[in-house]
Amino acid sequence: MAHCLLNKKSKKQSLLLLENMMKTKRCTACGGDIQIYYDNEVRDDVYCNECEREYRIISMHPVQLQALETDYDYCFEEDEY
Ligand SMILES: [Zn+2]
Repeated sequence: MAHCLLNKKSKKQSLLLLENMMKTKRCTACGGDIQIYYDNEVRDDVYCNECEREYRIISMHPVQLQALETDYDYCFEEDEY
């Protein structure tokens, strides 16, 4: 039915819109994905999906990230394993 077709189409379009609102930046440490959502703002903290390194958003248009320096040494974390 024509009605169903219309519904399917609009659903696909809203999905596309969602993808456009989410940006992905590359982690400088491991090359993993850092996802920035449309409702993120400057000074928000975001994390790398792969190594969980912390970044701060310093600009949204275009998206620019600044790696946050951690106080502790990364070698310290190996104790947990
Ligand atoms: Zn990473």
